[in-house]
Amino acid sequence: MEEEESPATAIALREPPKIQRLEESVVNRIAAGEVIQRPVSAVKELVENSLDADSTSINVVVKDGGLKLIQVSDDGHGIRCEDLPILCERHTTSKLTNYEDLFSLSSMGFRGEALASMTYVAHVTVTTITKGQIHGYRVSYRDGVMENEPKACAAVKGTQIMVENLFYNMIARRKTLQNSADDYGKIVDLLSRMAIHHNKVSFSCRKHGAVKADVHSVVSSSRLDSIRSVYGVSVAKNLMKVEASSCESSGCNFDMDGFISNSNYVAKKIILVLFINDRLVECSALKRAIEIVYAATLPKASKPFVYMSINLPRDHVDINIHPTKKEVSLLNQEIIIEMIQSEVELKLRNANDTRTFQEQKVEYIQSTLTSLRSDPPVSPPPSGQKTQKVPVHKMVRTDSSDPAGRLHAFLQPKPNLPDKVSNLSVVRSSVRQRRNPKETADLSSVQELIAGVDSCCHPGLLETVRNCTYVGMADDVFALVQYNTHLYLANVVNLSKELMYQQTLRRFAHFNAIQLSDPAPLSELILLALKEEDLDPGNDQKDDLKERIAEMNTELLKEKAEMLEEYFSVYIDSNGNLSRLPVILDQYTPDMDRVPEFLLCLGNDVEWEDEKTCFQGVSAAIGNFYAMHPPLLPNPSGDGIRFYTKKNESSQENPDLGGNVEVEENLDQDLVSDAENAWAQREWSIQHVLFPSMRLFLKPPASMASNGTFVKVASLEKLYKIFERC
Ligand code: ADP
Ligand code: MG
Repeated sequence: MEEEESPATAIALREPPKIQRLEESVVNRIAAGEVIQRPVSAVKELVENSLDADSTSINVVVKDGGLKLIQVSDDGHGIRCEDLPILCERHTTSKLTNYEDLFSLSSMGFRGEALASMTYVAHVTVTTITKGQIHGYRVSYRDGVMENEPKACAAVKGTQIMVENLFYNMIARRKTLQNSADDYGKIVDLLSRMAIHHNKVSFSCRKHGAVKADVHSVVSSSRLDSIRSVYGVSVAKNLMKVEASSCESSGCNFDMDGFISNSNYVAKKIILVLFINDRLVECSALKRAIEIVYAATLPKASKPFVYMSINLPRDHVDINIHPTKKEVSLLNQEIIIEMIQSEVELKLRNANDTRTFQEQKVEYIQSTLTSLRSDPPVSPPPSGQKTQKVPVHKMVRTDSSDPAGRLHAFLQPKPNLPDKVSNLSVVRSSVRQRRNPKETADLSSVQELIAGVDSCCHPGLLETVRNCTYVGMADDVFALVQYNTHLYLANVVNLSKELMYQQTLRRFAHFNAIQLSDPAPLSELILLALKEEDLDPGNDQKDDLKERIAEMNTELLKEKAEMLEEYFSVYIDSNGNLSRLPVILDQYTPDMDRVPEFLLCLGNDVEWEDEKTCFQGVSAAIGNFYAMHPPLLPNPSGDGIRFYTKKNESSQENPDLGGNVEVEENLDQDLVSDAENAWAQREWSIQHVLFPSMRLFLKPPASMASNGTFVKVASLEKLYKIFERC
């Protein structure tokens, strides 16, 4: 009869299972399995205990990936004999008394769980001696309690903890771990990371019975030395220092210092060694942020080595969110990550320039297309690309993942560039305001403008912009770019104007600032702009009128100063002087010759009444000002050189000199070199700032597909056919 019962009735009839209290040892074993997930977690806990005990030397021995034996010896303050009975009970600690202590803690441990956990899943033996004692004590533990009374024994300074037969009572865990070969590797990795941060402590790690240690660090005064001794010369020689900080007033308070690898460091995997308040932690968001910057700036070295130590006020970090304390949660995490990201980006861009400059120093001009590839010697072709066969007519010689252009290799060096670039960053103010694109634009009008940009975006052009390679400037306005097998002429003035406009909206109210070295009087600048516009200068009556217009515009802008400062970081003081401008793209300062035009445009063209139209107008004016227009001084490298002839000087002055010299003598050399600098600076910015930023940020509007901003000039397939016939 019983067999005939349907499953449904069987379930309905089943008694509710009885709830019972788990045996304490089972609870503890479950909890222990969480804290000690793998051998490396035990090593981490033990080493952290040694650090908490003020050790200066920590030695680790491992047998069978840690499953047979983990032994950590230190020279720290040791453990009092009378504390030994409760040492391995759960929640016994010397580091915390009440909950609030969590937020002012400087020790690594605080839960009093690690040693206890180990005794539930392994056999633990402790040997320890405190200062002033003649002998030490040894005692073994199981399931949180001493197995025997502590025995007096000979001991050297500090504590030695042996963890044997890890997971002996967790068959499944032991089996999976036995099959995985990399636990020792994980331990070595952990100690390497610890060693470079705690460089006042010497670390070693070896396999049981091995003579040679796999990690061996000595106490060193410089971080770079410790990185060198642990990770090797090949890593250390390719590192650059980074620093970032932000003070209380900006809403988040932190300090970061570290080292990041340069373009010569090529690896398969990113290594991010991250310490937050001296705790080794992981942070996938920061890791991703750094990876993105590398991929955009140094695609060939896109798997960097990064060491970073971040310090925050203790009460800004919640260390108690993860059982192994592997992750922490930070106040203002997004802002901090973003600030670090832009610092890394700046550093890489700067370094990239120096490298390009060095490449340009090459005396001869390379003459074959193939030698245009100026790859750094160590970089292998990006994986996955080398094996793919591409039909000859589809072969592309430039690499869209490399933001640097190719044509520059043909050009003569421009010796003034690096100076100029570093000057720019000096000019840049130290005022680093808080900025976080996700938080910007809580004003709905700005959000609508951004939504407008997004909805007009042309998907095909977006694809082109994201993946194109800058080849070089074709003339003053058009750049030659390659996308797949097509060549395009791209109007850099239009593109940069749009990019700057969009970035102004995105950074709305969260700009960093460029401080002008001398505040510039608005009325004079506007007057200058009005005079420049005038085709019939020198008319007194008109000049009066211009002065009046300039005064009126100045007054208007002074009235709007508060709004301009708060939302656009355009700072006009009460005397009517302009002294600060926003950073629209890091690494880029607009052409200051265009300030007058910008101010006039703000005064004349902006519709101030309606919020949205006003923001759009100001953003467009900024976009136009920051766009990469051709410099106002004509390009001296072509026909423009005529412009620089000194007008008043007689050519008879040096009758004995040859013709060429005479021409040179007649040029205003200062002006020529100013112009050369301006043009070189612009071209540098187009290549290193505009194109990389466009790839990341520009949403090209559909209008650009038809208004001549992008013009397809050739397709390589067709060119190939033509060449084939030759
Ligand atoms: P926690 O580190 O969270 O306090 P543990 O279980 O890791 O908890 O350690 C318990 C206590 O044992 C610590 O608070 C510390 O007083 C002591 N201890 C553990 N390891 C050492 C060591 N290597 N040297 C000195 N004291 C130690
Ligand atoms: Mg501990």
